[in-house]
Amino acid sequence: MSQDSTQRFETRAIHAGWEPDEHCGSVMPPVYLTSTYKQDAPAKPRGGYEYSRTSNPTRTVLQECLASLENGSHALCFSSGLAATNALLDRLVPGDHVVAGNDLYGGTYRIFQRVFARYGIRFTYIDTTDLAALEAAIEPATKYIYLETPTNPLLRVTDIAAAAAIAKKHGKLTIVDNTFATPYLQRPLDLGADVVLHSLTKYLGGHSDVVAGALVVKDEKLRDELAFFQNAVGGTPGPLDCFLVLRGIKTLAVRMDRHVHNATQLAQWLERQPQVARVVYPGLASHPQHALVKRQMRAAGGMLCFELKGTVAQADAFASTCKVFTLAESLGGVESLVEVPASMTHASIPAETRRAQGLADGLVRMSVGLEHIDDLVADCTQALAAAAQA
Ligand SMILES: *Cc1c(COP(=O)(O)O)cnc(C)c1O
Repeated sequence: MSQDSTQRFETRAIHAGWEPDEHCGSVMPPVYLTSTYKQDAPAKPRGGYEYSRTSNPTRTVLQECLASLENGSHALCFSSGLAATNALLDRLVPGDHVVAGNDLYGGTYRIFQRVFARYGIRFTYIDTTDLAALEAAIEPATKYIYLETPTNPLLRVTDIAAAAAIAKKHGKLTIVDNTFATPYLQRPLDLGADVVLHSLTKYLGGHSDVVAGALVVKDEKLRDELAFFQNAVGGTPGPLDCFLVLRGIKTLAVRMDRHVHNATQLAQWLERQPQVARVVYPGLASHPQHALVKRQMRAAGGMLCFELKGTVAQADAFASTCKVFTLAESLGGVESLVEVPASMTHASIPAETRRAQGLADGLVRMSVGLEHIDDLVADCTQALAAAAQA
């Protein structure tokens, strides 16, 4: 299997984990649709494979590719991003403690509070951009510092190197959910993190046609522990899902360049519109952590949000009137999506709490896709006009 760490990212995205096979020269990895494997003698599997929950050759290719792209030693793939989070939490025992960001992906917060808190795992939520607060929250029983950067939807950025240094000083593991940035734009393991988590459903798959997740580590012992839970719990992806993610990853670098280009242009245009109170995009000089973004990320990504002067009704009218932008949750596909956090992804957070966290009612979130920028701007122009009438 091809694993040349001297190659550039773009090259590894296409080649890492696979070489044209010896049987027939297949350029793409086969989708190994098999649940089991012939053994040469009892407990002597021919190619190291016994059963596809435990391992499958198509999944192996994806895992090797992801390990290469994140500069890790090993990766493990799961049936969703949340199944990957689940595997991390399965390592903990009652009384263990996790320090986590206070504006996590909603599903992450839900599995913490509604599933694992019931088993006696304790969670403390803090603003992880505040490193003093992060250090103060660490207890002897803390096992993980769990970061998301940039966050959703407010795109707050945490200094990964500084947070990981604090965690290391206290003997804790740093986990970074790298879904928004992708390894093309940000590599947390290089900055001192211990585990990178991905929802492969988003930019890595990139075409809104598959749900999958991954963990990437740089330590074999941790990999073995997590692999035990991957197999024992069984939240593994099917081989066709792995194939789809592999196909998506081949174009990750060119897709991200265009996502960044379009999001930058649109953010700058939105900043000039009188109806818009503020635009949040980590690539804008107006972003409060712009200097950190430039240090930590290759570029600022494809997500932005903006606040309309006015009510949730106006934000709803804007989102409902968009034609090129599809009104939908999720992100990271080739197509542009728009949503209103107060009405959709973050509706379960009480209105007061939401506002206290800076999530204004008129906030609109966009996953800026790969359509022509002029069509995206034209769509926003007509939707702003409709919002003004609402
Ligand atoms: C979508 C998402 C997840 C969860 O991933 P699924 O594949 O939907 O289970 C976790 N973190 C972030 C930042 C996400 O956007």
